[in-house]
Amino acid sequence: MLRIRSTLLLSALLPPLVLIGCAAPQTRAPSLNNASMDAETRKQQELVVEDYMSNYKKLQNVSSRIVTNSTDLCGDKVAGYYGFNYWNQDGFKPAWKEITKSKYSLDEKFKILNIVEKSPADKASLKEGDVLVSINHWLVPVGKDADKQLAQKLAEQAKSLGPVELAVLRDGAEQKVSITPVKSCDFQVHLAADDVKNAYADGTNIVMYKGLMDFFKTDEEMALVLSHELAHNTMKHIEAKKKNATTGGVLGLLLDIAAATAGVNTNGDFSRMGAGIAGNAYSVEFEQEADYVGLYIMQKSGFNIDNAAGFWRRMAVNNSQAITIKSSHPTTPQRFVAIEETVKEIKGKIEKGVALSPELKK
Ligand SMILES: [Zn+2]
Repeated sequence: MLRIRSTLLLSALLPPLVLIGCAAPQTRAPSLNNASMDAETRKQQELVVEDYMSNYKKLQNVSSRIVTNSTDLCGDKVAGYYGFNYWNQDGFKPAWKEITKSKYSLDEKFKILNIVEKSPADKASLKEGDVLVSINHWLVPVGKDADKQLAQKLAEQAKSLGPVELAVLRDGAEQKVSITPVKSCDFQVHLAADDVKNAYADGTNIVMYKGLMDFFKTDEEMALVLSHELAHNTMKHIEAKKKNATTGGVLGLLLDIAAATAGVNTNGDFSRMGAGIAGNAYSVEFEQEADYVGLYIMQKSGFNIDNAAGFWRRMAVNNSQAITIKSSHPTTPQRFVAIEETVKEIKGKIEKGVALSPELKK
């Protein structure tokens, strides 16, 4: 110990030049040529994009089951669900533009790059790689800002719950594909590419972060978080928080790393989102309700809810540093016990053959 201290002291007193001399590498590094560096950069960018798309597909496959099986909890926020996703050359974030453009042969037109498994689009034999030409004889616009018009058109169609007739280009020939949508909760599910363990609901959308996708060990874990987020939206928590607020500064979203560790998490990934957000976004009551209603949604969507409490516990342990910090929301044990009680309540209803509806306050 003493020796280390004296070394540190000595280093501190030596002139900087000597330090640089000491720190220099002793061996000759291989010389690098620009072409191989460029090729490697490209390879790595491609891997990032492939990883994103693979996570995107998993997310849509799981979330489709959740939004289409809980419509009785979504009130008038329902719409038709088709099950396809499209991009054009401007659809990915700017840093990915060149790589995605060449990888998926994208131009100004919109190309189908994802078909959700067992979705209406899948059943109608829409194919990945199909290029959108028209929707119910409405010519699909092309170019940079066309995505808004296209999204609006599809949203209108979806609201009508009626079938859509698509014309697509496949292998150079035009094909007609008629898709009859199924009813779904009208909340879009997005994947953010950032490497943080988080998810949030903003009343209209559900956003999952890639970092949290990497943390999931099973589809059940992903379904649990998605169901919890959907519950925030169906129970209109954002609107309620805005109404409840006596001062300004309520954010239009509920960040859910707080949910993951029942409010004890103020370090790690969460702090990267901005510590100031925590107090605004988190509410014990709404988290409990999202847990409670979320478990009903998960069960109704056909996922096994047995390990729900275990998942949140795993999240808490993953942030063990945060657990030791004194919390203003000392609700962790209550939360796990409440989840276990809800699981029992739901199982009891299944045994008795009673409808799976969350219990309202008397
Ligand atoms: Zn939450």
